[in-house]
Amino acid sequence: MAEQQEIQLWQTVEPVDFSPRIEVRSEAQALLVQTRQGVGYAIGGGQLAHAIQSRATHMLMDFTKAACAIRYQVDGAWEQLPPLEREIGDAMLVALKQLSLMNATDRRSTQTGKLGLKVAKEKFTLTLQSRGTPTGEQVMARIEPDKVPFERMSELGMRDKQLEQFKEKLDAHGNSILITAPKGEGLTTTWNCSMNAADKLVRDFQAFENKDAQEPEVININANLFGGDTDVALPALVKSAILKEPDVLIFPEPPDPESMQLAVAQIKKTEKQIYARMVAPTAMQGLASYLARYKDSAAEITATLGAVLGQRLVRRLCDQCKVGYEPTPQLLKQLGIPAGRVAMLYQPFVPPPIEQQVDENGRPAPIEPCSACAGRGYLGRIAIFELLIPGDQLRAALLKTQDINQLNQVAKNEGHRGMQAEAVLTVARGLTSLDELKRMFAKR
Ligand SMILES: [Zn+2]
Repeated sequence: MAEQQEIQLWQTVEPVDFSPRIEVRSEAQALLVQTRQGVGYAIGGGQLAHAIQSRATHMLMDFTKAACAIRYQVDGAWEQLPPLEREIGDAMLVALKQLSLMNATDRRSTQTGKLGLKVAKEKFTLTLQSRGTPTGEQVMARIEPDKVPFERMSELGMRDKQLEQFKEKLDAHGNSILITAPKGEGLTTTWNCSMNAADKLVRDFQAFENKDAQEPEVININANLFGGDTDVALPALVKSAILKEPDVLIFPEPPDPESMQLAVAQIKKTEKQIYARMVAPTAMQGLASYLARYKDSAAEITATLGAVLGQRLVRRLCDQCKVGYEPTPQLLKQLGIPAGRVAMLYQPFVPPPIEQQVDENGRPAPIEPCSACAGRGYLGRIAIFELLIPGDQLRAALLKTQDINQLNQVAKNEGHRGMQAEAVLTVARGLTSLDELKRMFAKR
């Protein structure tokens, strides 16, 4: 009896092209030719193409005695895929490690490698991290597009009214703007979109970047490099930049206190601005640690603070298949939404159990998964923004205490809408579901 071979996912798509990170072209070519002789080359190329087609940003491979389990991360959520047979998985890993310039025979040590990928005309960078585990080996593959698509704040999920307020602060005189997000929650994208939202036409923007951690280029922003092999220290760089009286001083990483003091003195004297960025769980926590870092300048920073932006990422409901429902008055009350304000909330479509998927005559009629989201119910992610614009009471409180609860209460009394309230608004706008909010708030 001939055994029917089941078609594997990696066989269903056109494989990616690999480009090893080797400068000498002939050497890269030789590596490709050599690796192509192994069976793992086609498997790896197909599996990665399938992951990219599924919009996965990460692929986790777990090697145990029996199999290679595979999971994708799509829009921040993990999905289990059918496992690969151990032999198939092993062959794939050998190829991917070789191409990423790692030691393919070493399955115990922690190793990292990089590899270029190409699908159609789009380029990606694969970062492979492997480490031995008690049961075998675990390998994380991160897949990042080389070109980050340009996005606007409104596309990221910012409300019109909020954007208006934020822009007003971005284009003001004599203030500082602090932009925060938890680690891995899209801070870089929001930072770049904020730069793009600011009026750069007639103003001079000077950014201070560590040579070893350079930022992607943004039009009309001049990068001043320090650290690394530049032999330049940040305070000296800030001092010389200030002589040209730029309109906005930009710090992608919180600078040392001396540089901050120079910058703060400058914005006070000349009505210019500071934009700074830092990783923080919430806007208020970011602000408190920012002020704690610059004790000598804290009074001046607080007095001139324009706004602090905080954000969290959630999955966006798929517009093609989301399902509306009428919220009960009880639920609305729980969410703090005034009665009559929101007629409809939305949730992802969940198909009935397969035995209930029948036509009018009771014959099986499986429901096709949504063509837009492949049945996930969510498509892409959006940010929920919290825009903290301090009033006089909060400014005063910031100099007296670092107690976050107390500061939050003062902000609330001043009319600040916190992350929780913003999250409910995002649900009321039909952009995400209550389940997704629960998932987000459970994370931290
Ligand atoms: Zn859908």
